[in-house]
Amino acid sequence: MSPLPPGSTLGILGGGQLGRMLSQAASRLGFNVVILDPEENSPAGRVSQGQIVAAYDDPTALMVLGQTCQAVTFEFENVPATSVERLAQGGAVVAPGPKALAVAQDRVDEKTFLTGVGATTVDFVAVDSLDDLIAGLDWLGAPALLKTRREGYDGKGQVWVRSAAMAADAWHAVGERPAILEARADFVRELSVIAARGRDGRIAVYPLGENVHKGGVLKTTLAPAAVDTKTERRARAIARAILEGLDYVGVLGVELFDLGGGRLLVNEIAPRVHNTGHWTQDGCVCDQFEQHIRAIAGWPLGPTTAHARVEMTNLLGDEVEQWTKLSARADARLHLYGKAEARPGRKMGHVNRVKPL
Ligand code: AMP
Repeated sequence: MSPLPPGSTLGILGGGQLGRMLSQAASRLGFNVVILDPEENSPAGRVSQGQIVAAYDDPTALMVLGQTCQAVTFEFENVPATSVERLAQGGAVVAPGPKALAVAQDRVDEKTFLTGVGATTVDFVAVDSLDDLIAGLDWLGAPALLKTRREGYDGKGQVWVRSAAMAADAWHAVGERPAILEARADFVRELSVIAARGRDGRIAVYPLGENVHKGGVLKTTLAPAAVDTKTERRARAIARAILEGLDYVGVLGVELFDLGGGRLLVNEIAPRVHNTGHWTQDGCVCDQFEQHIRAIAGWPLGPTTAHARVEMTNLLGDEVEQWTKLSARADARLHLYGKAEARPGRKMGHVNRVKPL
């Protein structure tokens, strides 16, 4: 595919904050953006040329989107795989492709894929019944983490199983749905790596971020993380193996457990721009949002070196009300998502505190 010229139209499935920041980056490069989201007035829709208000699997909406846009992408991995297939069948260029989506939608398929490309994960078993759970617990040892196979995010749909006596309650707690049981990762810290692959197969990797989660939700990212060369090299090799294994186009987020001594396990992958990559907006010449737009539009990838150290903090729920105080700080760059209602725990914005390298 030859590079899409400015003036082309890009489609994004999903109208949340990631779609919004993708749209803003696309707009800076001269593209038009159309959002598909069932909610009117979505954060992304409000900064784009247009929004189709329809379900993600609405055939007419998908047809219109495919016909209007020269390339289509998505901002979250739980868009129906059938929608992406339908777009592709209609002749639309969709990136990342259906394989990345399918792998990221199912935790068992994801870990099986990762292991297959040499990106080590914790030991795991698929759980389809209480008997599977009890057998898995016996094999992996307690405590182990039971997660729904599909549609879990930000720590939702997961429960620690601390003993066999807790198995029935845990199975009930995840809704008796297909699940995965994971061995506990004995990590010293959580890292992530954001990487991109262009249409020409070239790969660009950002410096690692160190992440702190609270209640399963990302609170802060510090980047570039202080890591030794061995850890950095391993993370880069993992990112490369995943991108190539998926024949990927676009930006990908990889969450890692750092076991120390250069040993890393992959927790999960996100086939999209990632919350732990928001620091790149104020720490790199080409941030993850522009990078994704470049990749899907067939442009050369941009530089990924850091020119500053950034501490990114998510503003959850009413923390967003700190905007008056934060906006007065000399080192703080505020990114607010324009969401009307600050429900508890909802991602309302983030602040990047920028320091010299
Ligand atoms: P996830 O939704 O899979 O990203 O998990 C959310 C958070 O739970 C992670 O960022 C970790 O802090 C923790 N976690 C997930 N899986 C494991 C595991 N196998 N062992 C230890 N902690 C985990």
